[in-house]
Amino acid sequence: MNKKDYYEVLGVSKNASQDEIKSAFRRLAKKYHPDVSKEENAAEKFKEVQEAYSVLSDETKRRQYDQFGHAAFNGGSGAGGAGGFSGGFGGFGGFDFSGDYEDIFDNIFSGFGFGSVRAKNKSRAQRGSDTLIRMSLTFEEAVFGCKKDVEVTSMDTCPDCDGRGGHGEETCDKCHGSGTVTSEQRTILGSFLTKTTCPKCNGKGKTFRENCSTCSGTGRVKRRKTIEVEVPRGIASGMRRRISGKGEAGLNGGPNGDLYIEFSVKNHDYFVREEDDIYLEVPLTLTEALLGCKKEIPTLYGNLKLNVDAGTENGKTERIKGKGINSEVSRRKGDMYVVYKIVIPKKLTREQKDLIERLSRTDMETKEIADFSRFVRKNDK
Ligand SMILES: [Zn+2]
Ligand SMILES: [Zn+2]
Repeated sequence: MNKKDYYEVLGVSKNASQDEIKSAFRRLAKKYHPDVSKEENAAEKFKEVQEAYSVLSDETKRRQYDQFGHAAFNGGSGAGGAGGFSGGFGGFGGFDFSGDYEDIFDNIFSGFGFGSVRAKNKSRAQRGSDTLIRMSLTFEEAVFGCKKDVEVTSMDTCPDCDGRGGHGEETCDKCHGSGTVTSEQRTILGSFLTKTTCPKCNGKGKTFRENCSTCSGTGRVKRRKTIEVEVPRGIASGMRRRISGKGEAGLNGGPNGDLYIEFSVKNHDYFVREEDDIYLEVPLTLTEALLGCKKEIPTLYGNLKLNVDAGTENGKTERIKGKGINSEVSRRKGDMYVVYKIVIPKKLTREQKDLIERLSRTDMETKEIADFSRFVRKNDK
């Protein structure tokens, strides 16, 4: 949609002074004000005028506009479009352009004594907000999945009034159900009939014979609820699950927000997790490593006997396929890695010392040790 040039909208020249802009705006605002205008498309023209004025009356925005045209204000496509004054410019002072356009216009107009341009619909349906809670899991709960109850405190629809806020609904006698009241306002531009939100019913058009005492008329109550959370196999710390519709209750019939569960998983004493793989350090005695052995080790799925080769070195790692986490999250079956760690005793009995000394008198020299000794001798010359 092609937007009209702001200067054209206000009917002023590119060099117009702020006074000229202001006076053009007043003239046109009066001409197109929806409450008084008989013109065709008055509401639309009125918006155009307001938009043009909001930019040209601000020297910074006017400069941006002169330089870049409508592109300076991303997203503002046509009358009633969103107020996208975001973009790469930043630092626009003045109005807060992150809100609705209507709010901006309200601001501008309240400065001119128009009061509220448009009665706001306070009974608009609103989605409830999302809730985030944290859940701590043991290693096993995360690996194998589980069902766990969480206690959530959230705002819920009041059960006594079904969220209406009262009992015995009747049409508001102040606004006769329209939600707005019309009043005459005298301003610098003359008299206007202005519509504002009905103060008695807050724009709902209805009042109650009796306010709900359970929720004090708010339609919502704080509730502690227990929700069963299904934790899938393979959840890891920092992962989140969304439980649709279990957040805060919506307003005026709007949908509920969502509940997010963020998990934190406790470490295991022996199993170390790397994504869906499991690492297990298995300590070996010196003789087990030297002579080899059969070693019973734990896995996630029960114990297993492994053959440890004679001459196993420290840090040797063995992969056991498919004994990692069978994850519902990644849809992958992890592996298990066994890492051997040779434990050197810090204290020996006299008998053990004798045996080791006898061992050292035998020829324990390997090629690696012989090569190293040769290098040491050569290095000394
Ligand atoms: Zn009312
Ligand atoms: Zn209630």
